[in-house]
Amino acid sequence: MSLKIYDSALRKKVAFQPLIPNQVKIYVCGVTVYDHCHIGHGRAYVTFDLMVRYLKFLGFEVTYVRNITDIDDKIINKAKEISGDLPLLEKTKKVTEEFTGIFHETMDKLGLLKPDQEPRATDHIAEMIQLIEQLIKNGVAYQNGSDVWFDIDQWKEYGSLSGKALEDLKAGARVEVAAQKKNPLDFALWKGSKEGEPSWDAPWGEGRPGWHLECSAMSMKYLGAPFDIHGGGQDLLFPHHENEKAQSEAGTGKEFAKYWLHNGFVTINQEKMSKSLGNFFILKDVFERFNPMVVRYYYLTQHYRTPMEFNVEVLEEIQEPYRKIQNCLSLTDLLIQKQGLKELDPASISDSKSIQQFKSYMDDDFNTPKALALIHELVGAINGEREKRKEETLLLENVAALKLILSVLGLQFNEEKVELIGDGAQEKYLTEEKVQELLQSDCSLEQLHLLAQSRQDLRKQKRFDLADAIRDKIAESGYVLEDTPEGARLRKQ
Ligand SMILES: [Zn+2]
Repeated sequence: MSLKIYDSALRKKVAFQPLIPNQVKIYVCGVTVYDHCHIGHGRAYVTFDLMVRYLKFLGFEVTYVRNITDIDDKIINKAKEISGDLPLLEKTKKVTEEFTGIFHETMDKLGLLKPDQEPRATDHIAEMIQLIEQLIKNGVAYQNGSDVWFDIDQWKEYGSLSGKALEDLKAGARVEVAAQKKNPLDFALWKGSKEGEPSWDAPWGEGRPGWHLECSAMSMKYLGAPFDIHGGGQDLLFPHHENEKAQSEAGTGKEFAKYWLHNGFVTINQEKMSKSLGNFFILKDVFERFNPMVVRYYYLTQHYRTPMEFNVEVLEEIQEPYRKIQNCLSLTDLLIQKQGLKELDPASISDSKSIQQFKSYMDDDFNTPKALALIHELVGAINGEREKRKEETLLLENVAALKLILSVLGLQFNEEKVELIGDGAQEKYLTEEKVQELLQSDCSLEQLHLLAQSRQDLRKQKRFDLADAIRDKIAESGYVLEDTPEGARLRKQ
């Protein structure tokens, strides 16, 4: 095993060793479903999707759990905005159902694999109550009215995950909230209900669980303890993950997660993107301008722990390398089809130099920028071989390696329909009269093909006026015209 990962708890790269040979159990904190996903959410879930895909590629049997937070102050506030007489609990359900659906649609567009389990907090209240009871029994939690708090002073390891010293944390804590707690750093395990808010029965009175608790209860329910990898965005390291670790280990007496992985922020003008700063981009809006796969490609251009700057210009630039891969694949597929060549089985090239190279990059804490550079080396080699049309074996090997790497990175290229024309064998040119007529009418795709083909001939005759009119007509019809060595080619805009 040569995979090295950066463990946030140890603050260094370590060799990955699964708890059970050949198996990996991974838990990632999911979304709170009350709004649209922004570009930062996309980065987190693409990051862990990439890891899951790579671990599977290495042959591990992966169990991936990603939760849905469906009870929270922000959800309740959103629900209060809904007019009508429905009870607040029904309104919160409306909010969470709507945004869970939107979350799934958005993640599907980014090409994410579905997690094996996607537990919702409100379906696991019993497990959470059980964990609180255990914490009280173990003397690390206390009740105050209908609230239950985790007792930081009874858990000496607090701060070990994020590397924060307890004394420093205490100095920075807000004093005014200390009244209900023994220590201002104590965090809520159970919150007594406020009038009219959704609540559940518990030994301490009606209320709802603190946010941190759900991840402990649900991860251990589906993965046991310890499990291999706990992941999430950098912003969750403290306090969320610190609290998860403390309450899980204090409750069960077992280690919670063996490795902790965190992805970096997406920044806008060097500032962390967040809703509260009002500087965030919603993925739904970004997808109106850009192919979601270009967005996925964008995430992979940086190492997952590096903060990455987002702006529209960056995405515009990234369309070009993405298109290069797309062009290479479609022109090569066409050649393979025309020559009647047989594509290689990916399994047959797993020991090839390119795949070994790919593994060496990804084994180094998932170095996707290097993997993308390798993809472009392959694209260059394939384009060269295709034009020479000599080295078929090498061409087929490189194509198989390229396709395998793209699939491990979850980059798909079959969404945009590519139409290829002008194979040289059956060139058909339209008369000038017919060209003029088609330019004035609504053209079918076939007619656009004929126009594009004729344009090449018109250019040879230096009839640039007509050639340009054809290009404009094609653009108006929603296609981009590209001249390639294989002939004119139409691509959907
Ligand atoms: Zn969590």
